[in-house]
Amino acid sequence: EMIKQAKFLISNTDYKKCPSPDKPEFAFIGRSNVGKSSLINMLTNNKGLAKTSGTPGKTQLINHFIVDGNWYLVDLPGYGFAKVSKSLKAEWDKMIREYLTERENLVAVFILVDSRLDPQKLDIDFALWCAERGIPFALAFTKADKLSTSRIKENVNKFLAEMKTLFGDVPDYFVTSAENAMGKEEFVAYIEENVAE
Ligand code: GDP
Repeated sequence: EMIKQAKFLISNTDYKKCPSPDKPEFAFIGRSNVGKSSLINMLTNNKGLAKTSGTPGKTQLINHFIVDGNWYLVDLPGYGFAKVSKSLKAEWDKMIREYLTERENLVAVFILVDSRLDPQKLDIDFALWCAERGIPFALAFTKADKLSTSRIKENVNKFLAEMKTLFGDVPDYFVTSAENAMGKEEFVAYIEENVAE
C-alpha cells in the first residue's frame, strides 16, 4: 500500500498539547543529518513535507502530521548537534523523555541510523534508553545507496550485534534509501499492519 496523503498538523514543545491521542502514532528520531526529513518525505511521497533540521540551536519541536486520515506521523528533533548549549540539550532531553514515556498512542519510535557508519555510541545509547523503558522502537538504517550492499550489511550487522549483546534482543529494522526508495514497501507495510491492529 502507498501513502496517499500526509498533512502537517501542529508543532509543540509539550507532549500534553499534542493532538488528542485518538489514532496510532509513529515517531521518527535520529542524529541530526541522518536523513530523517528525506526518509519521511520518501515514505509519504511528499518532497516538501518534513523540513531539513538545518542549523543547530533553533527551536526544537514535536511535529505532528496526519497520514491518510488514520495515523499520526511525528517528526522529532534530532540529537547530536555538537554545538548546542547545555540548556538546549536539557530542554531536548526533557521534551523527548516526556513525549516518549507519556504519549499513550505511540506505537513505535523509529530510530534512524546512518548505514555508512560503524555503530555510534549516541545511537546505541538512545536505543538502549528506549529498550530499558519498554518504549517500542525499530531501527531504520538510512542512506543505504551510498555504499555497496556488502558494506551496508556489515555495518547493519555490527549494530544489531551490539544491540543483541547489550539488550539481549535484535530489534525490528529496515534498511532504507531516500534516494532510490529502498525499504519503502516494507516500512509502509510495517506501519500499516500496526495501524490495523
Ligand atoms: P535530517 O537532518 O536528518 O532531516 O537529514 P536530511 O533528510 O536533511 O538529509 C541530510 C543530507 O543527507 C541531505 O544532504 C540529504 O540529501 C542527504 N540524504 C538523506 N537521505 C539520503 C539517502 O537516502 N541517500 C543519499 N545519497 N543521501 C541522502
